[in-house]
Amino acid sequence: MTKTDTEGVKTGTPPTGSAALNPGDEAAPGTMGTGEDVCLDCHGKGRIDGAPCVTCGGSGTVIRAVGGA
Ligand SMILES: [Zn+2]
Repeated sequence: MTKTDTEGVKTGTPPTGSAALNPGDEAAPGTMGTGEDVCLDCHGKGRIDGAPCVTCGGSGTVIRAVGGA
């Protein structure tokens, strides 16, 4: 097979121009049809048992898809 270097496709590299997402985020902040919601893992506290919540990155909120479409 030929070596295929597809620009921008690298494991662990987020798409150019997008903000860093937390594991709990469903989309980048500001994405149409999405909004902030309280993190269900830490319930908005940003911490679980004294450690930063990994789901929301310690912010206590995640970006979730909203709307009833
Ligand atoms: Zn959290």
